Amino acid sequence: MQWYPAALLKLVIPAVIILAAVWLRPQALSSGEEWQLLLGNLPYLLCAVALFLAYQFNRGRLLFASIAVAVFYWLVQQHLQVSLAEAQAARVFFVLSLAVPLGALYLLLIPERGVANLHALALAGGFLLLVAAASYVLPLLPQNSESAAQYYAAWPWEGYVLSRGASLLVGVVILAGILLISLRNEDADVAILGAACAASLTLAQLHHAMISVVLGIAASLVLLWGSLRSSHAMAYRDELTGIPGRRALNERMRTLRRRYSIAMLDVDHFKRFNDAHGHDVGDEVLRLVASRLRAVGGGGTAYRYGGEEFCVVFPRRSLEECIEPLNRVREEIANYRMVLRNRTRRPHRSHDGVRRRGATRLTGDEVSVTVSGGIAERNAQAPDAEAVIKAADARLYQAKRAGRNRVAF
Ligand code: GH3
Ligand code: MG
Ligand code: MG
Repeated sequence: MQWYPAALLKLVIPAVIILAAVWLRPQALSSGEEWQLLLGNLPYLLCAVALFLAYQFNRGRLLFASIAVAVFYWLVQQHLQVSLAEAQAARVFFVLSLAVPLGALYLLLIPERGVANLHALALAGGFLLLVAAASYVLPLLPQNSESAAQYYAAWPWEGYVLSRGASLLVGVVILAGILLISLRNEDADVAILGAACAASLTLAQLHHAMISVVLGIAASLVLLWGSLRSSHAMAYRDELTGIPGRRALNERMRTLRRRYSIAMLDVDHFKRFNDAHGHDVGDEVLRLVASRLRAVGGGGTAYRYGGEEFCVVFPRRSLEECIEPLNRVREEIANYRMVLRNRTRRPHRSHDGVRRRGATRLTGDEVSVTVSGGIAERNAQAPDAEAVIKAADARLYQAKRAGRNRVAF
């Protein structure tokens, strides 16, 4: 299992958007009537754009979230612009205060399977069921007992309207969100969590005028950001390994100046490895190699160049400075023993597998791979990034000929 604690930094973006919205509320309040009308409709417009983008980029969870935020905003505008002492308003408030965290938890936990397919339809059905449960079943709960009614009463603290029960649920959602973000490093999770926080804050601060408008704008902006980030990840991140791909490398190459080094790495005898253990195990190995290279150190950034080839860019580093970090990763990869979880993945003709296994050492159900690399730095002979890559590639070839599992420079 891999952790991405740095991914939590992305939470700064929704946090800044939400804080800016709260901070700008007095300005929105003092703006003219036409402005207020415009601002009041902005969440619908932004949700529509976020929905359109989510649809275009085939992001089902963000699409549901955009619809959910628009419906939430509409309900708040329709039913919660009166005192919560009114029975109908209190009922809607109660339902929303639980539906927001429950819906967010649902969206965080369901797998991303795109937009226009049966799976997405089933997920949408689940979401509607949740909404139905929220509006029909939940209102019956607090009437059951006096203590429950108190637990879900809307005024637990001065200036904070959300009930204890709902606050607890929101806390659970925030913890689950943080856990998932540090496990998966997905921008969609950040956006869903951010939108849920904005919606919960709307309910908690409902006694302030215009709060639903500014936070509605914030929630939809966060989703819009999430949709845009997904498209960016789609273009720049390699799907299999999660590290930046070829396109990102090409852009990076254009920004490199003066002093830098580039390493090319290639998994040894990978064709044999695939033949011996199957493509699935091969893919797992690529993920492993990528995850080690990601943490190469020495200021290097790893990219998947294509197939089983990787490229590490070291800005402002001389060739000598890259040798130690690269050799360290190479040894780490060579010493790593991957446990085969599923024996059926191995070839049916087992003697064939043994014959083809090549550089792979195998003890029981463990496998391992090695990588070879070549490093080159920018100099008079290799004046641009393309030439440096070519030089690194030539040295990679030398490393292969010299026996593999080594770095040539
Ligand atoms: P060498 O040590 O000389 O590099 O030998 P090699 O077998 O690694 O080199 P070759 O370029 O002949 O084979 C590369 C293999 O990598 C071919 C292909 O089966 C495999 N490969 C490329 N991309 C992927 C991928 O995304 N997943 C898997 N599982 N295998 C891949
Ligand atoms: Mg190759
Ligand atoms: Mg290879």
